[in-house]
Amino acid sequence: MAETTSGKPLAFVVEHLDPELGSWSALEYACIARECAEAGSQFLLTSVPESLQMPDNLARMEELKVERRSVEEIFVDRKSKVCLLDPAATTELSTADGDQFEVFLFGGILGDDPPRDRTSELRQKGYTGRRLGPKQMTTDTAVRVTRMIVQERIPLDKIPYVDTPELRINEYESTEMPFRYVVDSQGKPIMPEGMVELIKHDADKAVDDLI
Ligand code: SAH
Repeated sequence: MAETTSGKPLAFVVEHLDPELGSWSALEYACIARECAEAGSQFLLTSVPESLQMPDNLARMEELKVERRSVEEIFVDRKSKVCLLDPAATTELSTADGDQFEVFLFGGILGDDPPRDRTSELRQKGYTGRRLGPKQMTTDTAVRVTRMIVQERIPLDKIPYVDTPELRINEYESTEMPFRYVVDSQGKPIMPEGMVELIKHDADKAVDDLI
């Protein structure tokens, strides 16, 4: 388990804020769960309603700990140790925050363009906020960047990014993803497994709906 220098384990928490849990979110959460497990960090998906049927790919993952309770209920006695990753925060996340905080909290919200500031639902609970630069990231990218900063101690501006990458759907069509992504060693945006296929499938479906 990854620890802060105070010896406390680091936890990454995504508070699920959408009424349903669609295939995009399922792929993002599976990706976060896998990467946190590989990095030795704890990942909690909180506020998942009893009524919400977990998609199969998530239900099978032992790395994914689903909590029905909210982050507020779970960390009621450690509120000052919770850092909310907030696109509207005025202070950028720094490597030193890995010692100040034990829990890093993200909105389980599908990115929208332009953003509707739904992270405000968590901001009003009074957590200390930190920003990850000016561009909106997907939830899995925000967790990846946060972990690189607080665990691998890579400064925010030293992480390689690409903004609004183009995704080729087929030989005639491509689409732009209006987010900032971390790039891999080949300069390609890191996306959850299965996401490109899902985007292509959705694009075909969208075209089918049109014709
Ligand atoms: N469109 C949503 C945000 C979706 S991104 C909104 O308007 O609030 C999902 C989560 O990733 C956010 O709730 C936040 O926790 C995190 N996140 C994304 N981009 C970020 C940024 N630039 N700085 C800090 N946190 C960010």
